[in-house]
Amino acid sequence: MDIKHGFVGAVGNTPLIRLNSFSEQTGCEILGKAEFLNPGGSVKDRAALFMINDAEKRGVLKPGGTVVEGTAGNTGIGLAHICNAKGYKCLIVIPETQSQEKMDALRLLGAEVRAVPAVPYRDPNNYVKLSGRIADELDNAVWANQFDNLANRLAHYEGTGPEIWQQTDGKIDAWVTSTGTGGTYAGVALYLKEQNPNLKTILADPMGSGLYSYVKTGEIKPEGNSVTEGIGNSRVTANLEGAPIDDAIQVDDPEALRIIYQLLREDGLFLGGSVGINVGAAVALAKEMGPGHTIVTVLCDSGTRYQSKLFNPDWLKAKGLSPD
Ligand code: PMP
Repeated sequence: MDIKHGFVGAVGNTPLIRLNSFSEQTGCEILGKAEFLNPGGSVKDRAALFMINDAEKRGVLKPGGTVVEGTAGNTGIGLAHICNAKGYKCLIVIPETQSQEKMDALRLLGAEVRAVPAVPYRDPNNYVKLSGRIADELDNAVWANQFDNLANRLAHYEGTGPEIWQQTDGKIDAWVTSTGTGGTYAGVALYLKEQNPNLKTILADPMGSGLYSYVKTGEIKPEGNSVTEGIGNSRVTANLEGAPIDDAIQVDDPEALRIIYQLLREDGLFLGGSVGINVGAAVALAKEMGPGHTIVTVLCDSGTRYQSKLFNPDWLKAKGLSPD
């Protein structure tokens, strides 16, 4: 018998999918870790589970307690599912710029949702800082703190990384993905470099994030902006700190959009905006490395979370974007 024990037991062990159209175009094997198939629908189910388990183990999360978090949505959705499955309450602080679909999912799951203006991290009212203060003030509450809580990247060091290594029989030349908290990038990069120090670990970055310039010049200098959600940062989080980064690749929104529509139309995969950045970077890397290499990236979440935006022709037109 192969039976998963509830929601929690079904997190992880996702398939690795060959992206056929991009592999054929580039002559490289471009593989996507299908994190959108986690039971809560995104890569963040893994971090959510590890952070809750860690808080339980440390004795700070007790029966009837509340998990508080600042999140672009996916971590909140993962936390809300697990809180329901384990009997906790969930309070989510989210920038009001995030998609309606994610807000609706959070409310439907019973989380208390506080949508707040999107302001930079240096502002005391930034959603992450606000969530920390709320957790401090609330009785029997714990702050998940995904950006700086290392239980986040441990989920990928112990789960995603070893899964990728086993699924490819160790035949992998490069790992490339974008970062929000950095947990996915760093946990997998640390694990894979330990298995093979020659393997390349490359950070993918959207416009408007400061990490591309950080890798290239040592200076955090965000330029431009992006409609993608959940990725990019203007600081090096504790989760990203110390992770091996061989290089960075920047992908702009028109390219990311072209990629997610090609995935939809030619590969039959309906995926979110950060996947456009990830696969865009994998394709650029394939061109740089030349044919015959195996490159792994992440398929973070599904296109259903962005139907009112990235897959809505009126919204795209208003933003001056087009799938073609
Ligand atoms: N893609 C999406 C859609 C996300 O929500 C996130 C998490 N914010 C990421 C990518 C990045 O994951 P991580 O936090 O592990 O860097």
